[in-house]
Amino acid sequence: MAKTLFEKIIDREIPGSFVYEDEQCVVIKDINPGAPLHLLVIPRKPIPRLVDATVEDQALLGHLMLVANKVAADAGFGEAFRVTVNNGAGAGQSVFHIHLHVMAGRPLKWPPG
Ligand code: AMP
Repeated sequence: MAKTLFEKIIDREIPGSFVYEDEQCVVIKDINPGAPLHLLVIPRKPIPRLVDATVEDQALLGHLMLVANKVAADAGFGEAFRVTVNNGAGAGQSVFHIHLHVMAGRPLKWPPG
């Protein structure tokens, strides 16, 4: 299987701006930020989409959410941030390696576009 873009970043084959990493995931700055804070929480395991996750991934998915909490708080936005998962091209997914978007620092309208 060819590596995903995010696997290449995790493996330092292409550059990424890392803000956090542990044994299960990394967090990088989005290259095209949609808000003053726009981070991507990416598991080392290359699950393509949220719908491809299984019960085996339950603890990992929970871990990603807690890491989102941590990095938002560490950046000073712990009280007002948004976590988003785009599932499938029709919902805006462009990199098929599951990731959480963590966005903050501007008014975040609801519903999103
Ligand atoms: P999605 O469209 O939900 O799959 O999100 C993919 C995100 O990855 C987009 O917000 C892109 O701006 C971001 N992205 C693409 N390439 C890179 C890269 N080389 N480094 C950091 N973020 C990237």
